[in-house]
Amino acid sequence: MPSPTSSKFAKAKIGVFWDVKECPIPNGLDPATIYRNIKSSLAKKGYHGEVTITPYCDTNQFPDGPDEFESAGMKLVPADETERCRTMSCDICFWFSLDRKDKYTNVVVISGDNMDFLTPLEYFKQKFPVNVLLAQPENAWRWCPKCRKPLEDLVAESGEWFWESLAAGGDSITETQREELLGDKREEDNTDCCDWRCGDEQQGGGC
Ligand SMILES: [Zn+2]
Repeated sequence: MPSPTSSKFAKAKIGVFWDVKECPIPNGLDPATIYRNIKSSLAKKGYHGEVTITPYCDTNQFPDGPDEFESAGMKLVPADETERCRTMSCDICFWFSLDRKDKYTNVVVISGDNMDFLTPLEYFKQKFPVNVLLAQPENAWRWCPKCRKPLEDLVAESGEWFWESLAAGGDSITETQREELLGDKREEDNTDCCDWRCGDEQQGGGC
């Protein structure tokens, strides 16, 4: 597989969809720093297109208002729990419908469980030349390799970060780290780890 960044994706627009409730701002950082750091992490991987970051949060999460996000160039979208995932999915759909003329597109999903977005991402990957990038907190729930496979198949090469690393402008997950993650999972569960969970959720298409 050729490196995605050697291709048209390097200059294509980047839509970043960030669940601030599930992937909160790490201590010591602020929206403006995060905005810069995400851009710098992406640039390190060869993505230099125009970046649009949309943060989603609980309605009561930032009682002082969205000013800090807006002055950092991000429009905060208030949406509670299940609504947040739906709103993000809708906005991802809207991103594709807007960007169709641009052809090549990068999408970054930052969420507590990226499997929630499998259905829309699969759909658009079939229809458009889209490069999928992901971030999830380091200690977040991780699906077993078997259940996660459809998502892994969508993600660009070295296109997955721990949220803490992406927020700090750091590197994506290395192959070694990925193997360690999967290794941990195998040790914890000798049976198929999340069949109980997939059974319910796959039918509903995520959230
Ligand atoms: Zn599983």
